[in-house]
Amino acid sequence: MKTIGLLGGMSWESSSIYYRWINEGIKRRLGGLHSAQIVMVSVDFQEIEDLQHKNKWSESGELLSRAARQVEAAGADFLLICTNTMHKVAPLIEEAISIPLIHIADATAEEIKGKGIGTVGLLGTKFTMEQDFYAGRLNDKHGLHVITPSEVDREVIHQVIYKELVLGIVREDSRQKFITIMNKMSEQGAEGIIEGCTEIVMLVQQEHTTIPLFDTTAIHAQKAVEMALS
Ligand code: GLU
Repeated sequence: MKTIGLLGGMSWESSSIYYRWINEGIKRRLGGLHSAQIVMVSVDFQEIEDLQHKNKWSESGELLSRAARQVEAAGADFLLICTNTMHKVAPLIEEAISIPLIHIADATAEEIKGKGIGTVGLLGTKFTMEQDFYAGRLNDKHGLHVITPSEVDREVIHQVIYKELVLGIVREDSRQKFITIMNKMSEQGAEGIIEGCTEIVMLVQQEHTTIPLFDTTAIHAQKAVEMALS
C-alpha cells in the first residue's frame, strides 16, 4: 500500500472527513484491521484565510509549499490538498515537490464525465466560483460546461462557508438556501452540481435533493484510496 499525503486544516472540519473516509475506504477494500498509511500536515486556517481575503496568494502558496515539502519528506507517495480553493496555488505546490499531486478538479471531472454529464453547476467559495483556476480547468482540460450562481447567491454561499461550515456550524436555514440555489442552476441546465468546497457535504447530502451531487471531498478521498492501492 502506498502512503497518502494530506495537506489539511483548510478547514480541519473537512480534513477530519477526509481522514475518516480514506480509512473507511481502505478498510472496505482490504478488510480485517487494515487502515490507510497517511502522512498529514495540517496548517492554521486563520493564517490561510487572512492571506486569501488580502489577495496574498503567493504568500499562501509559499506557506503551503513548505507544508507540502514536509509531507513529502515524511514519506508520502502522492499529495492531496484537502480544499478546492487552495488549488489556486496548486501549480506553485507542484513545483515545490517531486511526488504527484492529485488535483481535486481532475478527480471530480473524471467522475462527472463517467456519469455522461456535460453541464454542471459549481458551488464553492467566491474564489473557486469566480476565478479561472477551477471552472477554467473543468472547461479547458475536461470539456465541461460550468454554470455558477448569480453574484448575490455566490455571496450567500461564500458567507455560509466562512461563517458557519468551516466552524462546524450546520444550519437548516442555510441548507434550504443552498438547495434553492441548486434548483436555480438545475433550471438553467445543470445536470449535476459540484459541491466544490470540502465542507459543503456537511450541509447538503444527496438525500436532500434529486439533482445529482458531486461531493469533492468524497471523490478526492476515494481517489486517494484507489491510488494507495494501485
Ligand atoms: N474547504 C473549502 C474549499 O474546499 C474552503 C476553505 C478554504 O478556503 O480552503 O474550498
